[in-house]
Amino acid sequence: MSDDGLSANRPARASRAYVTLVTNPDYALGAKALMRSVALTGTSADLVVLHTGGVSEADLEPLAALGVRLVACDLLPTSDAFNARHARKALHGAAPFTKGEKPSFHTPLDNFAKLRLWQLTDYSDVVFLDADTLMLANCDALFDYPEFCAAPNVYESLADFHRMNSGVFTAKPSRATFDAMLAALDLPDVFWRRTDQTFLEHFFPDWHGLPVTYNMLQYVWFNMPDLWRWSSVKILHYQYEKPWQDPHPKAAALRPLIDLWRAYAGDGPVPALADLPDP
Ligand code: UDP
Ligand code: MN
Repeated sequence: MSDDGLSANRPARASRAYVTLVTNPDYALGAKALMRSVALTGTSADLVVLHTGGVSEADLEPLAALGVRLVACDLLPTSDAFNARHARKALHGAAPFTKGEKPSFHTPLDNFAKLRLWQLTDYSDVVFLDADTLMLANCDALFDYPEFCAAPNVYESLADFHRMNSGVFTAKPSRATFDAMLAALDLPDVFWRRTDQTFLEHFFPDWHGLPVTYNMLQYVWFNMPDLWRWSSVKILHYQYEKPWQDPHPKAAALRPLIDLWRAYAGDGPVPALADLPDP
């Protein structure tokens, strides 16, 4: 480990990077499909997976085979009290999820490790992507966007436009920003009810809004079908239940989206967007 606590399997190959986070084998499955989808867009940006010790060599191997840069890290050095408040049971009790179900392999505390991307100062520009997303069209234009851009958390109603979703965002790595974040994160009694998402909304109160097409949430498929147009979806985000959970409560309603994810997760051809069914 270097003194920033990160350790990479190879040097950076570009000044821009798409970055995701993986802390367990389930999200490694997601990251493999995601990174394959990003590679298929023909980007020249680096592909990076931040991973903790919760992921084995064998789980990382498919990512290495795609040429992804693997950067080992620890969870953030947050206090025991902070960790207890954001433990899965405590968080689900204090701020229940009523719209969908989080899989059993989702550990809320792990989300905060996303902030480590600000330590990736080899890169001038980063786009962070949750491991449960797929890139369906080239998004390199986002590297020219300022920090901090994210799409609204739209999956049910117009009121959702007031909130941000932290599954896709633009960032400029900086040691100073990372240190400022750590100083603002773990304050006495603070509770970030939706973890990194609530924190980032607080840290960047003037976040710039991306179009929802950069972070199309899967529930839009059945809640707001008028908003769905395959030709404009750039990033698809499987929020709540994951497409590799078999089965899950919404699987029947999301079948075409799950089939699409499976095509990317495999090694065969992926369908053209023009051939996908409308909601
Ligand atoms: N994550 C992880 N391990 C966890 C929880 C989260 O690696 O136990 C990472 C992963 O990249 C994941 C992201 O943090 O995509 C956010 O979690 P998730 O996508 O499950 O949340 P949702 O989009 O459903 O709110
Ligand atoms: Mn997600």
